[in-house]
Amino acid sequence: MPSTSAVSFRDIMIASQRIASRVRHTPLTRSDALSEQAGQPVHLKLEHRQTTGSFKLRGATNAVLSLTAKEKGRGFVAASTGNHGRALAYAARAEGAAATICMSRLVPKNKVEEIRRLGARVHIVGNSQDDAQREVDRLIREEGLVAVPPFDDARVIAGQGSLGLEIFADCPEVATVLVPLSGGGLASGVAVALKAINPAIRVIGMTMERGAAMKASLDAGTPVAVIEEESFADSLGGGIGLENCFTFAMCRDLVDDVVLLSEGEIAAGMRHAYSVEREVIEGAGAVGIAALLAGKVASCGPVVAILSGRNVDMEVHRRVVNGATALAGKDLA
Ligand SMILES: *Cc1c(COP(=O)(O)O)cnc(C)c1O
Repeated sequence: MPSTSAVSFRDIMIASQRIASRVRHTPLTRSDALSEQAGQPVHLKLEHRQTTGSFKLRGATNAVLSLTAKEKGRGFVAASTGNHGRALAYAARAEGAAATICMSRLVPKNKVEEIRRLGARVHIVGNSQDDAQREVDRLIREEGLVAVPPFDDARVIAGQGSLGLEIFADCPEVATVLVPLSGGGLASGVAVALKAINPAIRVIGMTMERGAAMKASLDAGTPVAVIEEESFADSLGGGIGLENCFTFAMCRDLVDDVVLLSEGEIAAGMRHAYSVEREVIEGAGAVGIAALLAGKVASCGPVVAILSGRNVDMEVHRRVVNGATALAGKDLA
């Protein structure tokens, strides 16, 4: 293990035990269609069936359970309107703690309602994600709330790593794992878990061509900002943080390669997931299937593709299934 790894295999074992009663051990199923296409056994890790619809519940739950009773009493805060926000709302409520999710006025009403339904307090401020983040900083400073970051946090990374342990438990012969990559919390945790068990297992990050911050940062050798563009893989958007503490170094040292996918390829992945595998997957969760269909993965031995989430606007999903290959302007609200 490289010495830069701030999260150890032991941390992941402990996290996995700690969260076991709060998260699902999701199924791993063989895909005959993709196995035939790849010329290798391909298995799908059905993590979109996780409670709250994504793997983010693992990291959020480990963070919440790692804190002291005093910290839990102060309540948690985050600025994510997507899968991390849902996960933190759920994890906090399961522990009887309060969560506050900050978002801008531009966030669609259905997303606000979804987070409220999960029991969180919602603070609506300003017109951008930056404004929402400033409100998070204010709540930490003035009200003592405890931040749970979406990826750049050792407890969150250890929680996501539990997914790697499940992959090994269900497919010990795995040779290559395809991991959706944004801030790199999932890839870092899964890579530490699997490479500690067998350093020969390859961990490949999958992301979109448009605005892939970790890929640009790895190429630059340091965290860089990218211009955000709309994508079917909206859960993969956003930066890695110019002050990144953990995931940049961990992805640099542990991720073997990064594959970029076009919007058309991601759409084809979602369509295949639905029509052939009979699974509803959001764009971010479909990048592994997309790469296999596009012939962008070379593997000697069994492949596991992580289907990381299912929280897609069903109107967008319907259009993709009917053949759309790019987001229409009206999807951007
Ligand atoms: C957050 C997320 C990712 C990316 O995870 P990182 O830890 O930020 O790399 C991938 N897929 C889905 C569905 C997500 O919600």
